[in-house]
Amino acid sequence: MSWPPTRAAGLERLEAFLPHAGDRYRRLRNFDFGADDRTNVSGLSPYLRCRLVREDEVLAAVLGRFAPSTAEKFIQEVYWRSYWKGWLEHHPSVWPDYLEQVRSLLAEAAADDALALRYHAATAGETGIAVFDAWARELTGTGYLHNHARMWFASIWIFTLKLPWQLGADFFLRHLLDGDPASNTLSWRWVAGLHTPGKHYLARPDNIGRFAARRVELSGADGLELLDTAASALEEQAAPPRIVPDWPSATLPAGGGRVGLLLGEDDLDLDLGVRPVAVAALPGAPRSPLPTGDAAAAFTAGAIDDALTRGRQRWGLGRADLLSLRAEDALAWARRESLDAVVACYAPVGPGADARARVRALLAQAGVPVHEVLRSHDRDAWPRATRGFFRLKKHIPALLGRLSR
Ligand SMILES: Cc1cc2nc3c(=O)[nH]c(=O)nc-3n(C[C@H](O)[C@H](O)[C@H](O)COP(=O)(O)OP(=O)(O)OC[C@H]3O[C@@H](n4cnc5c(N)ncnc54)[C@H](O)[C@@H]3O)c2cc1C
Repeated sequence: MSWPPTRAAGLERLEAFLPHAGDRYRRLRNFDFGADDRTNVSGLSPYLRCRLVREDEVLAAVLGRFAPSTAEKFIQEVYWRSYWKGWLEHHPSVWPDYLEQVRSLLAEAAADDALALRYHAATAGETGIAVFDAWARELTGTGYLHNHARMWFASIWIFTLKLPWQLGADFFLRHLLDGDPASNTLSWRWVAGLHTPGKHYLARPDNIGRFAARRVELSGADGLELLDTAASALEEQAAPPRIVPDWPSATLPAGGGRVGLLLGEDDLDLDLGVRPVAVAALPGAPRSPLPTGDAAAAFTAGAIDDALTRGRQRWGLGRADLLSLRAEDALAWARRESLDAVVACYAPVGPGADARARVRALLAQAGVPVHEVLRSHDRDAWPRATRGFFRLKKHIPALLGRLSR
């Protein structure tokens, strides 16, 4: 499977997957058949991650083909993505705390030869657990892993190799094309037993042998007997504090003037209800103290470039600008284009939001307000993502009913 970083390629992927989104997905989605056979899953996550394709578009397309009950499993998976994003919005301190822990653990690894060796073996695919090593190489080589492989990998990393979960999450985030601060950080916490205290995910050789039989056949079963299938869940001193998020509304303030559209890596969809006189984008922000993997960085850069091209063509503009992460660059753009206001999609918790906050503050100081819009899919789903997924899940039928708004 390859992921050309364009909206056209994302829509093509959706079209090709649609016939499989019903019963076939329900029966086969948990199998990791290997990189050359991914027709049992959609492969849409890189496109959804930066909204080259939107969640509501995917859901509407699936509902155009199947009854909600037939595509129930696939629909639920798409809402898992919304759940993690909404949950992080309610517990935003998880993100900076995690980043800080990654920083200090990397410093620790630099000073501790034994930790450095184990960390290096795990990320280079040299642990001797053959199928784990194959997944490590697949991740760095392709930027994608099947969901079940992500679960097994994270579990082996934490409970068998006894490596800090934060360093594993960082390894994933740097290399995944779909690397997402919410889905990734919170899934690692879930595997570790921190999301639902006491409930952790233990990788078992028989389960891997069943759902990844072809992978094990190719890599060999070496090392599977080493898996720790009796480890206890990790614990933390206190659960992350919950806040009441202050999201912007879905509507834009009335008023004329020259409006610029500012895009970012979290949302590259052009439909925000404005007709801009200028379009610009912030580049992908650093995901880690370590560099982002080549494939992941190229995907984000290509996706942003695609959005700028679409924006320029759609509104017949002479140019569309890729800015830097320096807020001063955005101010220079606003001045050059004589903008009265800037419109942008709300940036969820993560590196993109940190970059956006600096831009918003500087533009506001200069008298150019940045109006952020929260898309209706997020506005409907996120408030339900305060505790466990099942609170959101029970609202899915009602949420689907609101899709066409
Ligand atoms: C440790 C770990 C780390 C992960 N890190 C990320 C990440 O950084 N970014 C990311 O997008 N997903 C992450 N996931 C979730 C999931 O593995 C991927 O979304 C999925 O494998 C993407 O492949 P697909 O598009 O073929 O999925 P499909 O099975 O076709 O699912 C359709 C869509 O639903 C969403 N989805 C499916 N499963 C999940 C899930 N468990 N959690 C959240 N959304 C889901 C995705 O947007 C996906 O594109 C992680 C899971 C684990 C266990």
